Amino acid sequence: MKLFLRAVLIPVLLITIGMAAHAENGIRVESFPEVAKQGGVCLVRASGPSSLKSIHGEFHGERFPIAFNNETRFYEGLFGIDLSTSPATYEIKVIATDEDNKVYSSTLPLRVEKVDFGTQTLSLPPHMVDLDAKTLERVNQEARKLQALFQTFRNERLWEGVFIRPVEGDISTGFGLNRIINRQQRSQHTGVDLRAEEGTPVLACNHGVVVLVDELFFSGKSVILDHGWGLYSMYFHLSEALVKEGDRLRTGTILGRVGSTGRSTGPHLHWGARINEARVDPLALVEIGKLSILTNHLRQQD
Ligand SMILES: [Zn+2]
Repeated sequence: MKLFLRAVLIPVLLITIGMAAHAENGIRVESFPEVAKQGGVCLVRASGPSSLKSIHGEFHGERFPIAFNNETRFYEGLFGIDLSTSPATYEIKVIATDEDNKVYSSTLPLRVEKVDFGTQTLSLPPHMVDLDAKTLERVNQEARKLQALFQTFRNERLWEGVFIRPVEGDISTGFGLNRIINRQQRSQHTGVDLRAEEGTPVLACNHGVVVLVDELFFSGKSVILDHGWGLYSMYFHLSEALVKEGDRLRTGTILGRVGSTGRSTGPHLHWGARINEARVDPLALVEIGKLSILTNHLRQQD
């Protein structure tokens, strides 16, 4: 079985998940996936001298944290690729110093591919679309509040292991969809809508701290979790929230129930994610978790 795994599964793995690796100056860097997508999430793994004093990554000039993962025995970091990122080849850079202050750096190219997110045409009651001055002021204030929240960087990683879907349901509106509402081009859909019955329990996708429980104009009853290291997840249109700001949740904790509050045409969960302010597909987090398990599993066979 061991031989089979080495001979067959490892080449398959390399082909299917497209691992890219590059070594320079003593540090080996890999990215999962090798080719990224607009709105995607990228896991960076580095291996090098065991006595590193500091290590961090940069993507497209933006810094992201990397730390040693005791389970995988790799230095690992995660960054997001905003859905509006222009398709091109960018650079992932990993910079480290050892105890003798020797500096190591390694770069790896990362191609970001264009995604056809599709277009949806919707008809909504005019009062939900054409906002009066007072409502517009409320909407702008709420947007500023969320913006400030996502800019807050918790220098502690709370998430670990796999990310789970907050509800089981199918996707009713995909990530990134361009929406034409009442014949006018509106903003892109920056989360996924999951089908679920009113009252269905909504689960925390990973460990995190509740940083917002509020009733927002568009999003209705909303809960936002801070998973640390710039990663946030959000749960919108809830019928009720069952947590309060400051609560520490574990993966799978029930944080609220599915509803249709705010601008919504029926019960569903809008699930969104941000990494260092990049608007990413939350399902990409679930995928990254799967890759990580697969590769750990293979390593344990050696
Ligand atoms: Zn939605």
